[in-house]
Amino acid sequence: MSSETADHRRLIIAGSGIAGLTAAIYAARSNLEPLVLEGDEPGGQLTLTTDVENYPGFPDGVGGTELVNNMKEQATQFGAEITHGIVEDVDDDVRPFEVELNTGDTYTADAFIAASGASARTLGVPGEDDLMGFGVSTCATCDGAFFRGEDMLVVGGGDAAFEEADFLTRFADTVYLAHRREEFRAEDYWIDRLMEKVEDGDVEIMRNTELLEVHGSQEDGVDHVTLARNESGYPKDNLDDPETEEFDFDVGAVFVAIGHTPNTDYLQDTGVELDPEGYVMTQGSRGGGEGANQTATGVDGLFAAGDVVDHHYQQAITAGGMGCKAAMDADDYLEREAPAAGETETAAEADD
Ligand code: NAP
Repeated sequence: MSSETADHRRLIIAGSGIAGLTAAIYAARSNLEPLVLEGDEPGGQLTLTTDVENYPGFPDGVGGTELVNNMKEQATQFGAEITHGIVEDVDDDVRPFEVELNTGDTYTADAFIAASGASARTLGVPGEDDLMGFGVSTCATCDGAFFRGEDMLVVGGGDAAFEEADFLTRFADTVYLAHRREEFRAEDYWIDRLMEKVEDGDVEIMRNTELLEVHGSQEDGVDHVTLARNESGYPKDNLDDPETEEFDFDVGAVFVAIGHTPNTDYLQDTGVELDPEGYVMTQGSRGGGEGANQTATGVDGLFAAGDVVDHHYQQAITAGGMGCKAAMDADDYLEREAPAAGETETAAEADD
């Protein structure tokens, strides 16, 4: 499809998680009739969890999917359109932007909000996919409280794994942290903090240990896991080594905390600056936290919000706040740089 025949939109929002949908609600209320492109994880990471108990306004909690569906309804009722579409490329050398989907379909847009999130990495071991949401989780803050009193396994050796293990001690009988090698990637702060919990008997650290399989059922949750240990590290790569020990271990929940990957491949060839891990650098993330335009990227008219920017807070409420800012920044930009036909006339009449 050529850009002459492409469907034109005032604003395209890539991503239908909390950031994208909040941006859609605000943009729709500004009469921008945004098009929201839902990617591979419609509704974003919140739909990977069951109940959300920390989203303000829901004292009894709210289902992750229910919250997302309510936001979709709210956005569409104000004039947003939500459709499936995975963005392959954004051409920022032209205005309007040309937005190409992986189907080959192309849209043009006067402004664009990248709210395509970050996907939690998973291990790809048997049982992990089947039991995701049924005892296996990538979000301790979301799901930890559901396994009160259970022994819990956290996989990973970075800050997130340490933070999750620390958080889970509120609920767990014992938290076991399994890391594939001897040294941790986590900062000393987290290591020291968790070692205090080890001393208290709330946490046990399993170095040089990897998860091979999760056993259980969707009805009854996680029953136990199979682990491998090799004192030289990376046991999974050394399963034939006689020094590698494979053993079953009883836990009631498994938290995989091996990092996130921001969904920003489609921005690689644009003028949007990405940090070494692929997160979008915005004016706000560079410390330009005051005043408007915090969600602006290095490309005029292209804004970013939510987990695609934020590798620190990564909460639904913070993603929503950023989505709101992105819609307001995009609205200001459009009014200034690409006013709708009616708005130009009105402005001209006002000048007369
Ligand atoms: P990360 O720093 O990339 O650490 C990922 C951990 O998972 C590493 O220890 C890695 O092991 C392990 N891992 C990766 N792939 C694995 C696999 N296939 N099997 C087993 N283990 C695997 O990711 P993160 O902890 O999510 O942190 C991401 C960023 O957010 C970092 O910049 C971090 O500082 C930041 N963060 C900060 C805080 C905080 O300070 N409050 C909290 C969370 C995150 P290896 O070490 O062997 O590679």
